Amino acid sequence: NFRGATFEQSAPSIHQCPPENGLEVAFAGRSNAGKSSAINTLTDNSKLARTSKTPGRTQLINFFSVGEGQRLVDLPGYGYAKVARAMKEEWQRNLSEYLQERDCLQGLVLLMDIRHPMQEFDSMMINWAVEVEMPVHILLTKADKLKRGPANSTLLAVRKQMQAAGVSDLVTAQCFSSLKRTGVDDLKRKLTEWLTP
Ligand code: GDP
Repeated sequence: NFRGATFEQSAPSIHQCPPENGLEVAFAGRSNAGKSSAINTLTDNSKLARTSKTPGRTQLINFFSVGEGQRLVDLPGYGYAKVARAMKEEWQRNLSEYLQERDCLQGLVLLMDIRHPMQEFDSMMINWAVEVEMPVHILLTKADKLKRGPANSTLLAVRKQMQAAGVSDLVTAQCFSSLKRTGVDDLKRKLTEWLTP
């Protein structure tokens, strides 16, 4: 029940996450990839993701409940202005630890702007996930910015890259647009698959 999603709590680090009960799916992406918009579109609730845009909260992990023992997790965006290197390293450590240690995590939704997919951060996240056999679902966001042909070519290129890396069993991909509401049903299907015990 994605429309009934409610904000549960924030955690400043992986070590202060709520207890592991039920199942979780996490959302990650470079800042400006369209993560807040996607969560808003998915849940039909513009106030939800705004929570995570509150200044000071951007570095927090935000937990949303979408049902009994079912959570969506909004991971901090990456690429905000001038984050000190030490902080960036700590943040990276946090993210990789979360992927490694969070047993109730079922999958990772990784958002990338369709106009420049597979940046350094994206590959890093995929590598960490694949290392611990965590499934990844790539959303090529703002698909409305490209015509159908180029959008499909980008999707195929990303899939091909995953095949070449031998990880296409773990990493799936789709186009998505919050503006045009395209790909919402495919995303819901994937999330339901992951969140069903
Ligand atoms: P976040 O930093 O990843 O949470 O990204 P936001 O959701 O705040 O979106 C960043 C910018 O991209 C905003 O200006 C949005 O209006 C825009 N945006 C997000 N999704 C879409 C989309 O599907 N289509 C278009 N054209 N713009 C989008």
